[in-house]
Amino acid sequence: MPTDSSNRILHVDGDSFFASCEIALDPQLAGRPVWVGGGRNGDGIVIAANRAAKKFGIETGMACFEAKRRCPHGVLCRPHYDDYREISGKMFRILEEYSPTLVPISIDEGFLDLTTMDRHVWRNTTPADYVNALRERVWREVGIPVSAGLASSARLAKLATDAAKPGFLEIPAGAEKEFLAQRSVRELSGIASRRERSLGALGAKTFGDVAKLPSTLLRQRFGIWGQQLWLFANGRWNEPLLLEVKDRASISSNTTLPRDEPDYEAALTFTLSEATRLTGQLRREQLQLRELALTIRFNDFSEVSGGHRFHEPQFQNSVINGALEKIFRAIMDSQFKPVRQIRLGFWNLARLDTHPTLWGKTDAERWAALDDAALKLNKDFQKDAVMTGAQLALRQLDDGHRNPKAKCPFVPQREMIRKLWGTDADPLAHKGEVEKRLAKVSKQHQFRH
Ligand SMILES: [Mg+2]
Repeated sequence: MPTDSSNRILHVDGDSFFASCEIALDPQLAGRPVWVGGGRNGDGIVIAANRAAKKFGIETGMACFEAKRRCPHGVLCRPHYDDYREISGKMFRILEEYSPTLVPISIDEGFLDLTTMDRHVWRNTTPADYVNALRERVWREVGIPVSAGLASSARLAKLATDAAKPGFLEIPAGAEKEFLAQRSVRELSGIASRRERSLGALGAKTFGDVAKLPSTLLRQRFGIWGQQLWLFANGRWNEPLLLEVKDRASISSNTTLPRDEPDYEAALTFTLSEATRLTGQLRREQLQLRELALTIRFNDFSEVSGGHRFHEPQFQNSVINGALEKIFRAIMDSQFKPVRQIRLGFWNLARLDTHPTLWGKTDAERWAALDDAALKLNKDFQKDAVMTGAQLALRQLDDGHRNPKAKCPFVPQREMIRKLWGTDADPLAHKGEVEKRLAKVSKQHQFRH
C-alpha cells in the first residue's frame, strides 16, 4: 500500500553517455549525428550514438562502416575512456550533493535515495523541480544531458527513466500499478529470457497480466522471485536503496594489440603482464581465483584457448603466471600466425584471507608477504616502483605497451564508491551500520500488503 513511508528512489542516467562526452569535449559537434566506435582502423563497432545519429538508424553494436553508409555526414569519434571517466566523476560529484545516499551502478548511471525529502527539502519545492534542477546543473556544469526517473524502488525508477528518456518522469506513490499495466515484462532489467518465456506461457506479457495472476502460482513457478514480481506488478514493491557492495564473480581482460604480433615471446610477455595487472586488482579487492582461461586470437580471427583449474584458490602472481605460461606454450606450440588479440579470464573467485606475515612459515606465506610488500610499495610510491620481470621486459619491449591499464571504462561499483566517498581509507566503514538500519526498515515495509 502506498503510505507516507514509501521509499522514493531516483535513478539518473546519462543520455548516450559516450557520444555526449565527445560533444562536451568538442562543442562544435553539437547538433550533428555523432557516434563513438571501437576498432583499430575505424573497422570496429558502434559503442554509443547520440539521438541525432539514432534518427539515421545507427545503433550500438552496428559496424562502423554500416553507420557511415547510413549517415555519410555523421561524425565517428574514437573512444576517449580517460576523459569519460573524468566527466563521470564530475557528474557523480554533483549528484552526491542532492542526496546523502548515492549508489553508482555504472559509469553514467546511479541511484539516489530521496526517501525523506518530502519531510525536509521538498517542503519548499516539488520533486520535479528538485530533480530538474539537478539535471539542469549537470548539463550546465558538465555538459552531459541526463534523464531521470523517480519511484518507490530502484527497479521501478529505472523503468521510469527508460520511459522518460530524454527527460524526467515521476511515478507518484499509488500510481505504480497503472504505470506498469501496459508495459512488457521484458523491460525489467536483468529478466532472463527463460523466465520471460515461462511468463508468456502463463499468458503474461505485461506487468498488468502478471498482476492478474494468482500470487501463489507465481510463487510456485518462480519461488521468491515470482512473489516479488507479483508485488512489483501490483505496485506494492517498496524497496529501500541499499549500499550494496557485491564481490565480483570474475575478472577478465581483452586486449587487441596495437599491431599484429608475430613474436610469440612478446605476446607471452604481454599476457603475463596483463595477468599481473588482474591479479593485483583481485588482491586489492581481497579476492583469489581458482580457475583461469587464456584465449589467443590470430590475425585471421581464428582462435586457440586453454584453461586451468587449481586445487586451492590462488593469489600469488608467481603461481598464476606459471600456470598461464604453461597454457600459453601448450596452445601456441604448433601455431605460426601473428597474434591479434589476447583474452584472459579469472573466475571461481574466493575471499582472500591471509594475515600479513613478513617471513611466514611456508612457501605460500612467504610469497604472500612478498606480493603484499610489492603491492604496498607500488601504492605508496609511484606506480610501477616495483615491477615483475614480465613487466620490466615489457617496458623495454615496446613503448606502446607501457603502463597497461584497464581497457574497460566501466569501473566496478566497489571502486566507484571508493572514488566517490574517499581515498584509501575504508570509505564504507559506515556501511554496516546503514545496512543494518535499512534492513530493519526494509523488513518493516517491504512485504506489507
Ligand atoms: Mg546511459
